[in-house]
Amino acid sequence: MPLKVLILGANGFIGSALTEAIIDRTDWEAYGMDIADNKLGEVLGKPRFKFVEGDITINKEWIEYHVRKCDVIVPLVAIANPSQYVKDPLRVFELDFEANLTIVRLCAKYKKRLIFPSTSEVYGMCPDPVLDEQNSNLVYGPIHKQRWIYANSKQLLDRVIFAYGVRDNLDYTLFRPFNWIGPRLDDIHEAKEGSSRVFTQFLANVFHGLPIRLVDGGRQRRSFTYIDDAIEALLRIIANKDGCASQQIFNIGNPQSDVSVADLANAIVEGFRAIPEYAHLADTAKIETVAAETYYGQYYQDIQVRVPAIHQAAEKLGWKPSTDFNTAIRKTLQYHVRRGDFMPDASADNS
Ligand code: UDP
Repeated sequence: MPLKVLILGANGFIGSALTEAIIDRTDWEAYGMDIADNKLGEVLGKPRFKFVEGDITINKEWIEYHVRKCDVIVPLVAIANPSQYVKDPLRVFELDFEANLTIVRLCAKYKKRLIFPSTSEVYGMCPDPVLDEQNSNLVYGPIHKQRWIYANSKQLLDRVIFAYGVRDNLDYTLFRPFNWIGPRLDDIHEAKEGSSRVFTQFLANVFHGLPIRLVDGGRQRRSFTYIDDAIEALLRIIANKDGCASQQIFNIGNPQSDVSVADLANAIVEGFRAIPEYAHLADTAKIETVAAETYYGQYYQDIQVRVPAIHQAAEKLGWKPSTDFNTAIRKTLQYHVRRGDFMPDASADNS
């Protein structure tokens, strides 16, 4: 019997790439739910993919039925965007924590394998030069810095899932994305000032002729990780050969791509310059700096650097990233060029 994988949030950045990879590269069956289907494209019509448009907080019977029916549950519904952590922290708590706790409990009840997205953000402001799943401390700011509600929500779920593992032998894997980037991350046409994650925001700003704004000068560093590398790790986690991923926590990130946000801005501008039809956008691109408080408001606190240790993923999954930072930018730009997303009349629903 082929493996049955339930993907909640199948239309998201990770969900759409994972669904596509499952259908194209495995013989597994995928079941998906999401509130929209615009990122799923051709995979929607494929016989091994069954999709239902719905909301995990409303369509509870469908969810319970499919948790029972499937072998592996991948709940990807969450807000994972810092601008939202400071704008609507209670919604982050309700969706990322409360709604997902229900799913975690169903997995424990029906003894299903749970593959859960933790986050690189759980490490917070941990001073370790390399963040390690087994040894690094999780370090957050004061309560009025509401940014940390996301990391706290995810951290508590990590602990709940771990506890189900210890007490009930729940078969889980926690994976921690380190700034995964690539096509379909956020909608470049809807990346209004400050609404998207930095990678899409900068692409959108160049495309719209708006200045790239470096928060506090862009000295902060992130380990940007290309989505194809990340999906390869997820496929290995789902396949779980000889139980290699069971009850494990994996950082999934590219320590070789530890670059500053200012470096990212320059690399994106240079990426446009390398495409003849859009080189003019590079010529007119402007980069300026803005104070974090002006950009995100008083509830924000930034993270200066986060570099993953990836020895767990290397040893247990035989995984390491293979796409360097500039190739990741080039591939993403090529994707948008192929689709005509940078044409002046590209429409908002063409994402
Ligand atoms: N950032 C920036 N300009 C922007 C958007 C974000 O300089 O227009 C910075 C932000 O302050 C942070 C980094 O880019 O240091 C990464 O932001 P992102 O939204 O991708 O999320 P994070 O990695 O912090 O979860």
